[in-house]
Amino acid sequence: MSQKDSKVVITNRGMVRAEFNFYVGKYLDKMYDAFEKDKKFIGNHCPHCKDVFFPPRKICGKCNITIPLEENWVDLPETGTIISYTATPYKVTERGDRKVKNETLLGLIRIDGTSTGIVYELLDIKPEEAKIGMKVKAIWTDLPKGEPMDIKGFTKV
Ligand SMILES: [Zn+2]
Repeated sequence: MSQKDSKVVITNRGMVRAEFNFYVGKYLDKMYDAFEKDKKFIGNHCPHCKDVFFPPRKICGKCNITIPLEENWVDLPETGTIISYTATPYKVTERGDRKVKNETLLGLIRIDGTSTGIVYELLDIKPEEAKIGMKVKAIWTDLPKGEPMDIKGFTKV
């Protein structure tokens, strides 16, 4: 038996929590800066078809053109419409499949004046009262840090 064959392998099962940062790109970076500095939504629009994107995009998928980073930004309201929604018994802010006592309502929301949707938790809305087409508004955290969770969720207007 060689030295190589005598190695011992120990296996442990369990979760490893790793904090990390990753770069979201110049377009989302600009959006998160607006969250942090001004508590404001900004998106961009395609100079060709005029579709408005929130979150902002580098490329319009419909026209297949690059939207310049320096231009085509638009200020957006904090209000929108529920395009779709679902209720889940699972906690969605953590990894794993831990069930929670009360269901979480998640909405696909189209911010007014945009052509796209974002997913956020619907707050203070009961599953039975949620409706496609319902008007909602964003609820901000007190001290935005320039990240997705600066928005706590959306609630009825
Ligand atoms: Zn376009």
